[in-house]
Amino acid sequence: MADPRDVLIIGSGPAGHTAALYTARANLHPLVLEGEPSSTSDQPGGQLMLTTDVENFPGFVDGVQGPELMTIFKEQAARFGAEYVTVKANKVDFSLGPFAVWADDEEYRARAVIIATGARSLMLGLESERRLLGYGLSTCATCDGFFHRGEQIAVVGGGDSALEEAIFLTRFADKVTIVHRRNELRASKIMQDRAFANDKIEFRWNAIVDEVVGDGKVSGLRLRDTQSDELSELPVTGVFVAIGHAPNTDVFRGQIDMDENGYIDTHDGTRTNVEGVFAAGDVQDHVYRQAITAAGSGCMAAIDAERWLEHEPRTETNW
Ligand code: NAP
Repeated sequence: MADPRDVLIIGSGPAGHTAALYTARANLHPLVLEGEPSSTSDQPGGQLMLTTDVENFPGFVDGVQGPELMTIFKEQAARFGAEYVTVKANKVDFSLGPFAVWADDEEYRARAVIIATGARSLMLGLESERRLLGYGLSTCATCDGFFHRGEQIAVVGGGDSALEEAIFLTRFADKVTIVHRRNELRASKIMQDRAFANDKIEFRWNAIVDEVVGDGKVSGLRLRDTQSDELSELPVTGVFVAIGHAPNTDVFRGQIDMDENGYIDTHDGTRTNVEGVFAAGDVQDHVYRQAITAAGSGCMAAIDAERWLEHEPRTETNW
């Protein structure tokens, strides 16, 4: 069994790295379980590893590539002594301090834990979608809408996210086609009314994406009509997949309070229902979902953890 740390951070997106930076500079010697390469990325680092240009992270006048931004975050935290291991947590026990987290059969123990495992956008599961992600295909209108001024683009999905993204994208695009697999939207009535009233929004009903077309960058969607099975091409230079998100919280089930969609419940900043366990970033935020808000909440979690550790007496059970 390893010696307990002051702070263990699970996850290495903007929230995890920022929590690492702040706790390292507070002399808490954080250890970051940074995750492992996944089917969508050959490196850990969260959703920014899947993006290209990031123009809305303050401090980068000319923008920065998502993976480069994550490398900078990590190097900055490491400069102050944050340690990283490339493993994925597969079991936790938060019933008693020091808390225990397992990865690859190794047990890690810490007096405070910051969960920053993020969320993932649900994807269509096409090879062409993976290939063109960041090259005209995006999962975030707030992040990438600006790149599509004067273009014709598509949004896939029929829920509130799809409609919200489509309405937002009409600020930039000349035309936004919402591609939905049924002939009835799942979105709330008010969002439907707004979308139907928007001149720039068109609908393609009963259509599923058969292929994202493009050589190096998106040039269209090949659609399959769910009723006639006919294929057709929709020429677009941008595609936004908006079919929902899922927080990466499976490993914490039964250990910590979550909402009905699996997002971790936080209160008074980044506190969870377990004292000494904090949550930051998209794993507890389904509203803002931005790199800058995740980083901000990673900072909050570090400060919350630091203050909690200051006042928490070290007892035989927690140390
Ligand atoms: P959602 O409500 O689950 O909707 C997902 C949509 O994507 C559905 O229309 C679904 O089609 C479609 N879809 C799912 N898998 C698909 C696939 N493989 N291929 C094609 N289409 C697929 O997700 P969401 O829109 O992200 O919303 C999640 C929650 O957040 C909801 O409770 C929503 O109300 C809330 N939200 C609220 C707001 C707001 O109030 N402003 C904004 C965003 C989200 P089907 O309809 O056929 O199942």
